[in-house]
Amino acid sequence: MSTQAPTAEAGAFIHGSAHRNGGPPLPVMNPADGQVFSEVASATAGDVDAAVSSAREAFGAWSELAVSKRGELLAAAARNVREHIDELVPLLTREQGKTLRDSRIELTRAVETLEHYAGLSKALRGGFAPHLDLRTDGLVLRRPLGVVGAIVPWNFPTTLLCNKLGPALVAGNTVVAKPADTTPLTTLRFVELLDLPPGVVNVVTGSGPETGEALVTHPDVRKIAFTGSTKTGERIMALASKGTKRLTLELGGSDPLIVCDDADLTKAASAASMGRFYNCGQACLAVKRVYVVESVAAEVIEAITAKAEKLRLGRGDGEGSQIGPLHTARQRELVAGQVDRTLEQGGELLCGGGPPGDPELADGFFYEPTVIADPPHDSPMATEEVFGPALPIWRVRDLDEAIELSNASQYGLGSSVWTADLDRAREAAERLECGYTWINSPTKVYDELPFGGIKSSGFGKEHGEEAFDYYTDSKSVVVRSG
Ligand code: NDP
Repeated sequence: MSTQAPTAEAGAFIHGSAHRNGGPPLPVMNPADGQVFSEVASATAGDVDAAVSSAREAFGAWSELAVSKRGELLAAAARNVREHIDELVPLLTREQGKTLRDSRIELTRAVETLEHYAGLSKALRGGFAPHLDLRTDGLVLRRPLGVVGAIVPWNFPTTLLCNKLGPALVAGNTVVAKPADTTPLTTLRFVELLDLPPGVVNVVTGSGPETGEALVTHPDVRKIAFTGSTKTGERIMALASKGTKRLTLELGGSDPLIVCDDADLTKAASAASMGRFYNCGQACLAVKRVYVVESVAAEVIEAITAKAEKLRLGRGDGEGSQIGPLHTARQRELVAGQVDRTLEQGGELLCGGGPPGDPELADGFFYEPTVIADPPHDSPMATEEVFGPALPIWRVRDLDEAIELSNASQYGLGSSVWTADLDRAREAAERLECGYTWINSPTKVYDELPFGGIKSSGFGKEHGEEAFDYYTDSKSVVVRSG
């Protein structure tokens, strides 16, 4: 069976080199044809312990470096990966399923985030409170936490990891990363390419319930930075209570996009289509519900449906493919089930609704871009997170009704508003219950702005200077002089 690199075969990267895990091998499959093309040994609790020990050992010297030096080393690490993006792109496509173009976008964004935090290293500040009392000043120091466990899912294995690595490393922490067991290869190679001092970033691969839980419950791990489903996030929260560990939870979402009657309808329809179908709909901040004001609804629904019908479905490595397969057979079953159960309750199927007829795609986990108009507000596509290429659209009376329906969700990650009236948009942004609102903008995440959800979408922030708050403890020092 072919494997990509010695690190991949061994299944872990610990203290700067390949480490052979002791657990059973896990198959790695190409979602475009269902073929197993590699296998990776999974990490036991003992392997996780070796990774955490390495990170703990590295913490001393790493945390004592000047912060600008850590920034310099991170910048060099980002450069090392950037030089190998051509090697990583086909590997990411092969194990994840996304198109080559989207793999390149993901890897470039991952490197950019590391570069962003390398640049911010010189801006990392504590606080100063002068004259608290006579000749008495206060200092607020920022101290790293120690070993951070970073657990990420399979939809954007490298960007979601780098969102954690950037602030964690600059702040002086060391890291043990656990990718999803279905996308271990790119992460192993990516971290190897960083070429940071041994132990600063380690990788253990294996399943969530075994390798993941061994990491979460390890007594020397001080913080878990987790991205994944709400169900797993809640489980991790319970486990992390022992040892009072710090947590950041970036969980699921069901982001609404609202189109008002004065919006640029063409751009709004493009944002809805791009926002929903990008990465085959497998993004936490994907547009998962559209609410459009009645008077312009017909035009918007027609434009979105036309775009969905035109998208070229194909293997990630196929020429001209715009959407690849879903990541696993299980993921396709989940999405198909949500669509079918919704249509049983009502709504009009405008396009898609099942796997494509093309025999060349029969072995992969493909699902056609799907649009459904006006399903019931209590149907699965209204109430659950749909992690695939299926979009429900509802006609609404006005912006107030759209906001009310948007907020009637357990999730609170992001939202979008399209209107020419910026006062109205600002008011909507204040009323929408979520962590990020885009006004007349595609749903792009910026390194400069804090990102993170509320309600069942989790807590804590990634990106922005704010992310440092989640990888440091503050310590107050009172200095009386004279
Ligand atoms: P899961 O929660 O199943 O898995 C995410 C990661 O957690 C994987 O590495 C998984 O390992 C691991 N894991 C699973 N169970 C445990 C456990 N008991 N203890 C420790 N680790 C565990 O998520 P999905 O695979 O379903 O990923 C998709 C989800 O991620 C969606 O809900 C999506 O919205 C969310 N997401 C959120 C984002 C955000 O920023 N808010 C961004 C992207 C995705 P393994 O898979 O190997 O078992």
